[in-house]
Amino acid sequence: MTSPAVVWPEPAGRASRGLLELLDEDMSRRRRISIAPGRVNLLGGHTDYNDGFVLPVAVDRYVSCAFAEGVEHTEHTERTGPKGKALEFVSLDFGDRFMLDITDIDRYRESADAFERLTGGPKNRWRRYVAGVVIEMEAAGSSIPTGLGVIAGDVPLGSGLSSSAALEAAVYLALNNGGATPEAALLCQRAENRWVGVPCGVMDQFTSFMAEAGKALFLDCRDLTWRNIPLPAGTAVTVIDSGVQRELADGEYLKRRQEIETSLTILRKVTGPLESLRDLSPEVFEEVEDILPEPLRSRVQHVVDANARVREGVTRLVLEESEGFGELMVDCHLSLAHLYEVSTSELDLIVERSLTVDGVFGARLTGAGFGGCCVVFHREGCEGPLRERVEKGLESEFGRRPTVHHLHSADGAGVYPIEDQI
Ligand code: ADP
Ligand code: MG
Repeated sequence: MTSPAVVWPEPAGRASRGLLELLDEDMSRRRRISIAPGRVNLLGGHTDYNDGFVLPVAVDRYVSCAFAEGVEHTEHTERTGPKGKALEFVSLDFGDRFMLDITDIDRYRESADAFERLTGGPKNRWRRYVAGVVIEMEAAGSSIPTGLGVIAGDVPLGSGLSSSAALEAAVYLALNNGGATPEAALLCQRAENRWVGVPCGVMDQFTSFMAEAGKALFLDCRDLTWRNIPLPAGTAVTVIDSGVQRELADGEYLKRRQEIETSLTILRKVTGPLESLRDLSPEVFEEVEDILPEPLRSRVQHVVDANARVREGVTRLVLEESEGFGELMVDCHLSLAHLYEVSTSELDLIVERSLTVDGVFGARLTGAGFGGCCVVFHREGCEGPLRERVEKGLESEFGRRPTVHHLHSADGAGVYPIEDQI
């Protein structure tokens, strides 16, 4: 085996060392490590579940799973599992571990009780993502290995950088040497939908698997065709975490999804067959918009415009028009704030202050909103003033300091052999 041609990020080193410690220096097992990035969405927003377009970038924050095949000798497995059939996962970040019996995967799938016992109730949420991926892999016909997986990550949790998709991708690749594919993204999306109960679209998982460093991923969420579009040279991305937890997020997110469903039912009365808002052109919407009461009209307007903006954004990137691209990001933020109503005062202030910094092209909230992060697209080199301006602004208005992450674009997830020297 040759050394991986990548510089391992911090979580990969941590996961590998954690695995070696647990293996008690036993180097005889086949070992590998998966590395899966988080992402920020530059354009589009609440468009993915409308069969629309998105334009995310994978960023250099990762979840890694270091995996050794066959671990029946570990203390934990000897205590609890039938030898040779145990698949155990350890989360270094949560200080927790659990074990599946791979001969019992059908039972976890068919019995809600068995799944609950395995994942230990809602507080051990990370187990649900992991077990969900394993169950969906088995259902899709993958042969699931026995072994020990050690997981570590540095994607901030619940901030809109999609740590959950990175976790799913890391687990998938650690178990299956088949590589990163659109099908893998769909499988991980199913895992999150069915086993964690989050009705997310496929953007996050798709980006974690299929992105390329230096490029934004232009994805059609309807037919999953995609293209990686080079970002203009000399540009960078900063993510600013407002520190506001997305407490209302789940309920409000579901509400937006219901509003879209209701809007579609009403719109169909005048437009005829309309599978999703993707099929509604700005021109047709202009003719029929009066049929929708508020806030439905505004919600639909946002989605129709956001889809058009992603396409225009791709043109701007191709033409290397960073300023024009940035303006589209700001339009997207305003639309998310006023039409889709998913922003907060803190996110609005971060966008507003960022735009006063020389070299900033655009800024917007990223993720579903209701708190979490803003993404700022800017010229390389203005990180210092940007940080200062936003920190001061948020501190004086809201008495809190944001967390600022200067990030680089990253390649999609991969899996590599672990050498003895880490
Ligand atoms: P987001 O995807 O926006 O970061 P989510 O709420 O969708 O937020 O996912 C966060 C969840 O993903 C965490 O609560 C945890 O269960 C899981 N997760 C993320 N990163 C890790 C990690 N490094 N180790 C274990 N679980 C993780
Ligand atoms: Mg998530």
